[in-house]
Amino acid sequence: MQVLCMASSGDRVDIVCPACGQKYAVYYSRQLTAECESALAAVHAALLGHHEKDQTAAAHPSGAFNVPEWKGPAHMSGAALLSGAPIHRLADNAAEERLAS
Ligand SMILES: [Zn+2]
Repeated sequence: MQVLCMASSGDRVDIVCPACGQKYAVYYSRQLTAECESALAAVHAALLGHHEKDQTAAAHPSGAFNVPEWKGPAHMSGAALLSGAPIHRLADNAAEERLAS
């Protein structure tokens, strides 16, 4: 199952990075409790993986990312489209990143 992780400022927090304390809301492409639990474990591992070289919150992708990794825009992933995630925010972030680069 694919999940979408969005950095959270506190309105919804599903998982906290054990290394830096960054908060994330997690959106699932499906809502099966057993799969959600294993997906959260995968997110936990991915968060730790981001910190291989950098122990600060800057190690994480800005905005959103998918687990398992997805090469396309985060707001176009299956998890983003199927989970009811606030993808308008992701699209806005993507547009801002394009303007900034
Ligand atoms: Zn972290």
